[in-house]
Amino acid sequence: MARMTLNGIRKNFNAVNVLHGIDLEIADKEFIVFVGPSGCGKSTLLRLIAGLDSISAGEFRVDDRRMNEVAPSRRGIAMVFQSYALYPHMDVYENMAFGARLMGLNKIEIDRRIDEASKMLRLDPLLKRKPRELSGGQRQRVAIGRALVRKPKVLLLDEPLSNLDAALRSDVRLEIARLHREIGGTTIYVTHDQVEAMTLADRIVVMNNGKVEQFGSPRELYERPANTFVATFIGSPR
Ligand code: ADP
Ligand code: MG
Repeated sequence: MARMTLNGIRKNFNAVNVLHGIDLEIADKEFIVFVGPSGCGKSTLLRLIAGLDSISAGEFRVDDRRMNEVAPSRRGIAMVFQSYALYPHMDVYENMAFGARLMGLNKIEIDRRIDEASKMLRLDPLLKRKPRELSGGQRQRVAIGRALVRKPKVLLLDEPLSNLDAALRSDVRLEIARLHREIGGTTIYVTHDQVEAMTLADRIVVMNNGKVEQFGSPRELYERPANTFVATFIGSPR
């Protein structure tokens, strides 16, 4: 289970307020997309959920357990970064094993999980390759694999298609949709692309200037946009 509750979440960096009170209730197993223009606070919010940055005010709960002070490795939440951030000197296997070792898993369990994740992502023939010997799409799949071996209840993906060619984007997008169904957990996917949001999400969080403008299904946003910002953002061509 991973029902998530965000209550009045604020974030400031020194004197600058970046998130101005975010309230969200996310159900277990939902595919949620955070969408909004560059700089609106999507990555910041994701980092707070992952525990990579501290919440300035407000409360974050998963299944009624307060998460504000829980260490990232104990949250059951894994994040895939926009930049992949693979370890260049490690092969694919080692990249996937690294985080699992930090969790204290033994080698048999790590190998079992890497076997499962690499088959799911079609990386099993590539386990001995270094990141520089992989295509962009394969690197992105390793970054996802590295998160999956931790068996997170919640998978966070920050603009996972942004470093891929147009030709690969639809492949990886379909793969992420399939993974979400196979894993059976909650997925939060960040993008600035409204078409990606509309095609992937169960529900979409439209953000602007550190606030939530609307939270609803693609159909609700399309048929009943809450304001002109949502209407313009969702309706504008890419
Ligand atoms: P998005 O992911 O939606 O493009 P971000 O969450 O990265 O937006 O950034 C939101 C705002 O917070 C931006 O104005 C950015 O400059 C600022 N910001 C993000 N991280 C930091 C930081 N570590 N220190 C200061 N300002 C930051
Ligand atoms: Mg971002």
